[in-house]
Amino acid sequence: MSSERRWDVLVVGGGASGTLLAVQLLRHASGPLRVALLERSGNIGPGLAYSTPSASHLLNVPVAKMSAFADDPEHFLRWMRRVAPDTAPCDFVQRRRYGQYLESVLRTARRHAAPQVSFMPLKGEAVSLSRADGGGYQVELLDGSRLEAQRVVLAVGNAQPADLPVEDLGLFASPRYVRSPWAPGALDGIAPHDPVLLIGTGLTMVDTVLSLAERHHEGRIHAVSRHGLLPHVHRHGPAAPPPTFPAPRHVRSLLGTLRREAARAPEDWRGVVDALRPVTASLWGDLAPSERRRFLCHLRTFWDVHRHRMAPSVNETVRQLRSAGVLRPQAARVRGFRMVDEQWVEARLSPRGLGREESLRVRHVINCTGPDASLGRGHPLLRALLDSGLGRLDSLGLGLATDGEGALLDARGRVAEGLFTLGPLRRGELWESTAVPEIRAQATALSSRLLRAFASQPGLSPSRLSLPLS
Ligand SMILES: Cc1cc2nc3c(=O)[nH]c(=O)nc-3n(C[C@H](O)[C@H](O)[C@H](O)COP(=O)(O)OP(=O)(O)OC[C@H]3O[C@@H](n4cnc5c(N)ncnc54)[C@H](O)[C@@H]3O)c2cc1C
Repeated sequence: MSSERRWDVLVVGGGASGTLLAVQLLRHASGPLRVALLERSGNIGPGLAYSTPSASHLLNVPVAKMSAFADDPEHFLRWMRRVAPDTAPCDFVQRRRYGQYLESVLRTARRHAAPQVSFMPLKGEAVSLSRADGGGYQVELLDGSRLEAQRVVLAVGNAQPADLPVEDLGLFASPRYVRSPWAPGALDGIAPHDPVLLIGTGLTMVDTVLSLAERHHEGRIHAVSRHGLLPHVHRHGPAAPPPTFPAPRHVRSLLGTLRREAARAPEDWRGVVDALRPVTASLWGDLAPSERRRFLCHLRTFWDVHRHRMAPSVNETVRQLRSAGVLRPQAARVRGFRMVDEQWVEARLSPRGLGREESLRVRHVINCTGPDASLGRGHPLLRALLDSGLGRLDSLGLGLATDGEGALLDARGRVAEGLFTLGPLRRGELWESTAVPEIRAQATALSSRLLRAFASQPGLSPSRLSLPLS
């Protein structure tokens, strides 16, 4: 294999996680190091979350909390002020700006990297991974080509939404169904007066409603989820001191403590939820798998709407659309779909508490259930990783099993040498692992681990690795 296809570190996935890891490697590597970042879209930086072209899609976290660097919390604020001088730390800015910010952070890191450190952005989709004969890993791409690397980091992030496990009678294969509202042009076939049904009432539904509103949509927008709960709104207020939890072993006692703390919070429950952030991973780690499962079954929806909140201006748009009767959220279970003809879809719903089914006719159904939580489904690389035994699911099947620093555990529970992950794939182990504050901390820790490993193997100093020719 030619040296252009061999790397010391290959990062697979060029969203926020892969980009921030590459940035840390470029900033801190002093010796020879060859890093490649493989992204299937060819667009490194924004990933799924920050590549939206819509001006109405905002960050759901204020500017002050979105710096790429934990040790320089105002970095994003300073960058934003170069673009929009009036930006305040508490502003919720356009998500696409954050994608541009990540691109700019990577450009700067490349410019200032040590002379012996090289970085190569690559376009392609990794579909399988296996051990290479001379050590390290071989990664196969969709086009049949191969790359080799001593260490591989899977930063493949958020999965596309999954179809509901219900009878669809032709809907899922029809153009009346939008499988992912994030796909470019996903809403193009929807006329302004078409009634539509959105499956899900969380932040992905909110994004989709904003996109429809941007297109001056006037038809009715139905939105259903089992509880019919929408995300709460952010409110500026003082952060509460971190609650002191007596290491609860049960979800029920955790909930009890949270309720007590929130009742005591002088200003707002939001401070209590936010104060939990730094201790979430350790609280999660203390829970037995059965308790974590209980949380997912019974409390996840409630947690999500309190924790993942809407920007105030987004909340205002949603409020107006609801009071105008355009947006109609409903608590109902979807039982199935039927194509009435080429124009109309019928959804069978069981509204919560009604005890009978109702049907609803719409022109389009849009899947707004958010990233698929079942790992590996529809992702050839992850499927191949699990099938080969090089990686295994965490105990909840939300992501990959890892050690405390993101090294994968193989099928037998041993640390897989040279194979790592960060970001959403660590959700099952840490629970809080999908947002920028956690991802930037993981990127810093993982880059130190990778660089330490190269430094401690002088014979294997990065650019002198000898991989077999193929
Ligand atoms: C719509 C949305 C909005 C969000 N808003 C916020 C926010 O405001 N603030 C916040 O802190 N967090 C937010 N998040 C959370 C978000 O998960 C993280 O902030 C972050 O963007 C995750 O980045 P990632 O790189 O891990 O994942 P992704 O953004 O999903 O990026 C993964 C990348 O890997 C690529 N990829 C996948 N598989 C392969 C393969 N086999 N080969 C090559 N490339 C591959 C994909 O093309 C993609 O570009 C949001 C998430 C979503 C979905």
